[in-house]
Amino acid sequence: MRVRSSEEFLRELKARGARRLKTVRFRANRSTIWSLTQDATVLNLHVAYRRAPSGILDAFATIVRGRGYRTAAVKEAAERVRNWGGLDPVMEAVRASHAQRARRAVRRCADDAQVTHCCATPAQRAYLRALYRYLNQSRFDGLLPKDVPVRLSNRMSTSLGHIVPGRDRARGRFVVELALNVDLMLEGNGAERMDTLLHEMAHIADWLFDNQYGHGDSWRKWARHAGCRAETKYDRPVVRRRRRTQQITRVPPLPLALRRQAA
Ligand SMILES: [Zn+2]
Repeated sequence: MRVRSSEEFLRELKARGARRLKTVRFRANRSTIWSLTQDATVLNLHVAYRRAPSGILDAFATIVRGRGYRTAAVKEAAERVRNWGGLDPVMEAVRASHAQRARRAVRRCADDAQVTHCCATPAQRAYLRALYRYLNQSRFDGLLPKDVPVRLSNRMSTSLGHIVPGRDRARGRFVVELALNVDLMLEGNGAERMDTLLHEMAHIADWLFDNQYGHGDSWRKWARHAGCRAETKYDRPVVRRRRRTQQITRVPPLPLALRRQAA
């Protein structure tokens, strides 16, 4: 099958009526298969789609024309691109090479060297700490460490979050940090914010209690336990900030149960 450049992909989508679109970017992501900016001008795609057949291009044109809103047509198109057979083998390869790098990173970060630059305001930091503590109690039976630094990153491109697993002589396995994409603080991303935080917390449990780092059976077990999607493909529209340099200071409302506790 033909391998398309981003320009070719863009041209084909424009020919299918996606006129607002200005940029198509291919990325070797582990979990995000596509994302569309809020103004529907930038479409980030998993590299696997370079080889997508014409029917999949039709589906992406539908998604872009629908600006990612969850209409029946967009949902149907999103399902078609998610289930395309060419995706999984390439994703597996990306994950395998990432896992290899991650194993090296575990050794490297023993000296706490690699941490995310954090762009959270003090109020956002307090919010994240409260939410982490609440979810640790309510979804993980309080098993996770209370002192994991939770940061916000404005440097993640399409990824929504990560943890940095660490290991050293004194502490054994520990967690250097949990970082979330700052876009998750935007209005409209409530469900994705919760789901991503739980997804990352499941990685923490998996790393500390099962000695695993990835999306294998043990991670899925923790994800189901916590009640987040035990899936690694993100294809739900996430509201993105308009410019990468835009500062996000919004502090979302805490879950109702937590507000009641505080009152
Ligand atoms: Zn993950």
